[in-house]
Amino acid sequence: MLLSEHVGDCEAPCQPVCPVHMNIPLMNRLIVRGDFAKALPVVKRDIALPAVLGRICPAPCEAGCRRKQVDQPVAICHLKQFVADEDLKQAESWMPQLAPSSGKKVAIIGAGPAGLAAACYLQQKGHQTEVFDQHDEAGGDLLKIEESILPASVLENEIAQIARTGTVIHFNHRIDATEFQQMKEQFDAVWVATGALAAGELFGLKCSKQGIETDKHTYLTSDAKVFAVGNALRPSKLAVRSVGQGKEVAAIIDGFLQTGIAVAPKERFRSKFGKLEIPEFAEYLKESLHRERVSTSLDFSAQEARHEAERCMHCDCRNPESCKLRIYTDEYGAEQRRFQTSERRLVQKQMYRNGIVYEAEKCIKCGICVRLTRQHQEEFGFTFVGRGFDVKIGVPFNEPLQLALQKTAQQVAAYCPTGALAACKLEEQDV
Ligand code: SF4
Ligand code: SF4
Ligand code: SF4
Repeated sequence: MLLSEHVGDCEAPCQPVCPVHMNIPLMNRLIVRGDFAKALPVVKRDIALPAVLGRICPAPCEAGCRRKQVDQPVAICHLKQFVADEDLKQAESWMPQLAPSSGKKVAIIGAGPAGLAAACYLQQKGHQTEVFDQHDEAGGDLLKIEESILPASVLENEIAQIARTGTVIHFNHRIDATEFQQMKEQFDAVWVATGALAAGELFGLKCSKQGIETDKHTYLTSDAKVFAVGNALRPSKLAVRSVGQGKEVAAIIDGFLQTGIAVAPKERFRSKFGKLEIPEFAEYLKESLHRERVSTSLDFSAQEARHEAERCMHCDCRNPESCKLRIYTDEYGAEQRRFQTSERRLVQKQMYRNGIVYEAEKCIKCGICVRLTRQHQEEFGFTFVGRGFDVKIGVPFNEPLQLALQKTAQQVAAYCPTGALAACKLEEQDV
């Protein structure tokens, strides 16, 4: 019942429509602060080639951006490109942390965007990767894009960043059936990431009319250590989807190398409430600036990037990882709207001076904030208001919310089990 009346988005609407689920609002918060160096790892956690994709991605995330209900979507794709370009300009560009060597080896056939992304993420997990490509350059279909759209130097630079993680790329190397058999003996896992559908038949894998047959969740083929995804499986015109598949299959292979079993990552529960109602515009604009979209025809300057990022309304919840409501919803398989009887309530955001946000529609009435404010002798604190199903958390004597948390704001935000009371300015989640 608590879940049925709950109004909140675990993730901002731009995130699930991004094929790699990038943490867009967090990137935007860091750009607003001018902390471009910290924004980069947030981007690269999900996108291995952000300067490339910034130039060619059709930006499905912007179609999902809630700001477009108010005026125009935030220029997410261009902001991501800006962060990546800034990093490429540095004498010493960012390098991900690499886990200690696992002693495991993975062969990847095909140095297109999917293969490169997987190599990058597997290296970060400590596995040695070797990429085999029949051409004399890496990049696959990305190499066919016009220079005026994607300069070759950008692609080269980003591939060089991936190579710095220690992956070995073998050029002009076409794998035949004999070598494929040897590969399976020499490597702990093999991933067929080429665009050639005939590869499956050549390598003796089970194929259908669509190409190599795989388990649709784990990408495992008829061979126990061979995976196939990317264009080998479904021709994907969106390079961002290929990069996303690379990330996904890297996570599955990492699990496989550790346990011997290929398991698909579990989808987490996502509370969502859909479109904003007109009165909610003002609530969402509390964390944003009234400003027109900065023109994206030119590269952003640092100031323009900050201005554009300031348009973001930070639609994500501020406690998405440790929220108990989300965790238990997953654990018990609860359905969000099962007991919904009335129209959804409108979102209200109360912003505190000390960087705390209170969203009453996310509250599960656990009373932790009531007990904490009493224990620490807040002058007003929180109390239960009303009875039965209509009980709410509020400030005694209808005093303004600003008076409720004069001493305990940070503490109450830390102990609130949901995102109802949460730190919204100081936090950087898990940057
Ligand atoms: S409070 Fe929990 S369930 Fe609700 S939107 Fe936030 S993370 Fe999701
Ligand atoms: S306003 Fe910001 S957080 Fe909200 S959907 Fe758009 S980019 Fe995402
Ligand atoms: S601690 Fe959070 S969820 Fe619990 S009653 Fe207070 S605001 Fe609501």
